[in-house]
Amino acid sequence: MRTKWLLSFCLLSAGALSAASRNLEIYWIDAEGGAATLIVSPSGQSMLVDTANRTSDDRDARRIFAAAEKAGLKQIDILLTTHYHGDHMGAMPALVKLIPIKMYMDHGPSIELSRPNVAAAYKAYEEQTAGHRKVLKPGDRIPLKGVEITTLMSAGEAIAQTMKGAGAKNLACADFKEHNGEPDPDNDMSVGFLLKFGKFKFIDMGDLTWNFEKKAVCPENRIGTVDVYQTTHHGLDRSNSPQFVWAIQPKVAVMNNGPRKGGQPSVFETLRKSPGLEDIWQGHLALLTPKEINTGEQMIANLEPTAECKGNLLKLSVAPDGKYTMTNLRTGFSKSYQSK
Ligand SMILES: [Zn+2]
Ligand SMILES: [Zn+2]
Repeated sequence: MRTKWLLSFCLLSAGALSAASRNLEIYWIDAEGGAATLIVSPSGQSMLVDTANRTSDDRDARRIFAAAEKAGLKQIDILLTTHYHGDHMGAMPALVKLIPIKMYMDHGPSIELSRPNVAAAYKAYEEQTAGHRKVLKPGDRIPLKGVEITTLMSAGEAIAQTMKGAGAKNLACADFKEHNGEPDPDNDMSVGFLLKFGKFKFIDMGDLTWNFEKKAVCPENRIGTVDVYQTTHHGLDRSNSPQFVWAIQPKVAVMNNGPRKGGQPSVFETLRKSPGLEDIWQGHLALLTPKEINTGEQMIANLEPTAECKGNLLKLSVAPDGKYTMTNLRTGFSKSYQSK
């Protein structure tokens, strides 16, 4: 009895100790142009942002599950679906059979219900999430213990208040050029959020498009600057306006592009002109973009076309003191940075 008591006491105190000193970890799961970003808080709680594509072999569900196992997770505490496109929610039905998901968050009803495939996927989503679903409004806190996550955009609306330390007039807004309407309007509804862990800041805006990004950074920048930016919309030039990127001034950009989707030259150009940008990391070599415009191979997780792709991960680990390290799990190459 006594031994058992002692043992559980030791386990308890080890747990308490490591929670305070544990790192925040983020995994970018390669989904061949889909989105799936797994956030593991120092508290041990987890949030998955999007569930990538549906394929006949459940490739993306298995890749997400493998990443969750690698992170030591037994469940996903929150699944945030930024919007209802197949590359962001396709693998959900297969994933829920592999790992329990406790709570679902999203922007509210799909605005593409006139498309039969979207309507069917959205109906299945409603059924799956019934009783465990929360619709996010701009300004809402996402309750992942151990970090502070604020909803910046949802259903086409931007946060009304200004984040701490932000609010400067964004001079680039004077040169903003409106884009034509978005052909896939649910992108405009994407949930975008800012995650803070100590001094460290990470931003993910889903597939929010050019005209809508502006709402959060013009005429004044309500977001402020960040450390790590998941390039919006897989690095497509329908998103990632200079007005947005140069306002948030990331030090590190992580592009969840596929071999033939995203990673467009003008987005690389915008990123490279952004004040203070140090590095771009990519989920994939963008095959339709000249090799010299892609980032260096050591910062690209996957080089092959989809048929041969192994789905290597990019991993970010953020220490409580603000030092953060990106690692390419294809090669083990890593590089550290300091939070602003
Ligand atoms: Zn997408
Ligand atoms: Zn989309």
